[in-house]
Amino acid sequence: MSTDMNAHAEIDRSFERYFRQNRLPHLWCPGCGNGTALKCIAEAIEGTEGFTQDNTVIVSGIGCSSRGSGYMDFDTVHTAHGRAIPFATGIKLARPELNVIVITGDGDCTAIGGNHFLHGCRRNVDLTVILFNNNIYGMTGGQSSPTTPPGKMTATAPYGTIDRPLDACRIAEAAGATYVARSTAFHVKHLTQMIAGGLKNHGFALIEAMVQCPTAYGRKNKMGSPAAMLTWMKDSAVMKAAWDKLPPEKRTPEKFPIGLLYECAGEEYGMANVEILRRAGGL
Ligand code: SF4
Ligand code: MG
Repeated sequence: MSTDMNAHAEIDRSFERYFRQNRLPHLWCPGCGNGTALKCIAEAIEGTEGFTQDNTVIVSGIGCSSRGSGYMDFDTVHTAHGRAIPFATGIKLARPELNVIVITGDGDCTAIGGNHFLHGCRRNVDLTVILFNNNIYGMTGGQSSPTTPPGKMTATAPYGTIDRPLDACRIAEAAGATYVARSTAFHVKHLTQMIAGGLKNHGFALIEAMVQCPTAYGRKNKMGSPAAMLTWMKDSAVMKAAWDKLPPEKRTPEKFPIGLLYECAGEEYGMANVEILRRAGGL
């Protein structure tokens, strides 16, 4: 066996058992960051006590990233555009013993699903929501999404976006989520850790995973190869501790903090609901 083959044999590929091999290859473009983030989810599940393929449900909406649920070998639900959080809430309330994870995109979660996102946060439902943010509507052809940064070219803003972008993490914090974190497809170990933290949180957890879309976003904005987009993420992301020390003038729109951004205690919705059922004589 050659040295290369030996090296290959030593790579831990235990994550593969979390994927439906008969659904592969996936439909994502070469160099898309979605696959990286999906692997981080699988590794976070593998490393978190109490999470198995039989007790974990993965729910997604519509969009490139939301196709991820179909590749994962769990009980999965691919739902309507923007509606993953309500479906997941129903599953969690009906079967509180299950772990429920949501995969969503920036368009799915913060545009058509924005209202559901707010109310999932304020209810503090025990969900782990992983928002794949590629700053664009990828699947439908590169339209501006609520997270497209100012000045960026899109199919609906061919001279540059003038809308100010939403910061999903700050919205989640303000709306009542109890765990809010961000990482990127470049920082794979860090992203896995951030997701694992969300899985352990008993309440609404949002993990924003910045992922590169070389096709619908990078190409229009001349961001280069997928590797160049990963370098852009590396250079743009600032660990929270360092971000907190940055003077305001250095917090430019191109830069963003990563890490555990916010965490608090709060009554979980399902527990409160059990109490209501008990009072109503249903338990
Ligand atoms: Fe990924 Fe963008 Fe291609 Fe969608 S359009 S699969 S987000 S690279
Ligand atoms: Mg998107």
